[in-house]
Amino acid sequence: AKLLGKNNFQFYQGNMRNKVNENFEMESMLRKALEQDELLLVYQPQVNASGNNVVGVEALIRWKNEKLGMVSPGEFIPMAEETGLIIPIGEWVIRTACLQNKAWQNQGFEPITMSVNLSIRQFYQSNLAAKVEEILLETGLNPVYLELEITESMAMQADTATKVLNDLKKLGVKIAMDDFGTGYSSLNYLRNFPIDHLKIDQSFIRDISQNEEDQNIITSIIALGHNLNIKLVAEGVETKEQRDFLVENGCDVLQGYYFSRPVEHSEIPAFIRSFLHI
Ligand code: C2E
Ligand code: CA
Ligand code: CA
Ligand code: CA
Repeated sequence: AKLLGKNNFQFYQGNMRNKVNENFEMESMLRKALEQDELLLVYQPQVNASGNNVVGVEALIRWKNEKLGMVSPGEFIPMAEETGLIIPIGEWVIRTACLQNKAWQNQGFEPITMSVNLSIRQFYQSNLAAKVEEILLETGLNPVYLELEITESMAMQADTATKVLNDLKKLGVKIAMDDFGTGYSSLNYLRNFPIDHLKIDQSFIRDISQNEEDQNIITSIIALGHNLNIKLVAEGVETKEQRDFLVENGCDVLQGYYFSRPVEHSEIPAFIRSFLHI
């Protein structure tokens, strides 16, 4: 048993060292990723409930690395947060997303909303609103076509969060509360924050057709949002059953694999065109 214990310890220690080295290596690789154009945005369409229009897209980051392959945001955003790399990365995301949206407008498409995810550190950086304003001026994008997505966890420092959100609203951009229903004190935030959209978390959508409780939660969230003049977006819509339930119950905007996976920018025009004659 003692031997086993010792081996276990060494095994564990070895593993830890690899983990540390791996993290360290990944950090320096991520640092270079920004300079070497390894980051890209993919865009997932958002469709209105009547199903006849693409009203927006959500920008989702990807990291394409020669050695690591395609790295998903779940694997590197937490590290970017910890190291502070999220600040330059986040700025790159907002700029790239605004430029892209402006480019589609310049191509003659009806303007759509570009939704961008903010991370908590980015949200609490001192000059976020000034940065966003600078990017809007630089790219020439009308602020009403930029939406910033925050989560309930960002609202923990309620006073600061209210100030940041009000500063952002003054610019004319839209605010969405992402992953709604999975965090804390949602109702308090709804009362205090200037929110345009609530995104119903995909965990509530998943089992809609079998789970009556989920159905009741969803219809309640929709009623709550509408009573507060907030539009509802459902994410993670994968099936026709889910779509039908959401449309029948008054959800405003739908997003999910049922309509489209997140795609590269070059695929968005064809997607929009496929809706034009509906
Ligand atoms: P999120 O903001 O909740 O984004 C939705 C996630 O669900 C995306 O995963 C999307 O690809 C996925 N998804 C969309 N439709 C469906 C569906 O029908 N079924 C299922 N099962 N999944 C669907 P992704 O792209 O891997 O992003 C994961 C998370 O990483 C995002 O969750 C967001 O929190 C974060 N993230 C992504 N891009 C950025 C970014 O530019 N900045 C920051 N700070 N975070 C980002
Ligand atoms: Ca999001
Ligand atoms: Ca979400
Ligand atoms: Ca999420």
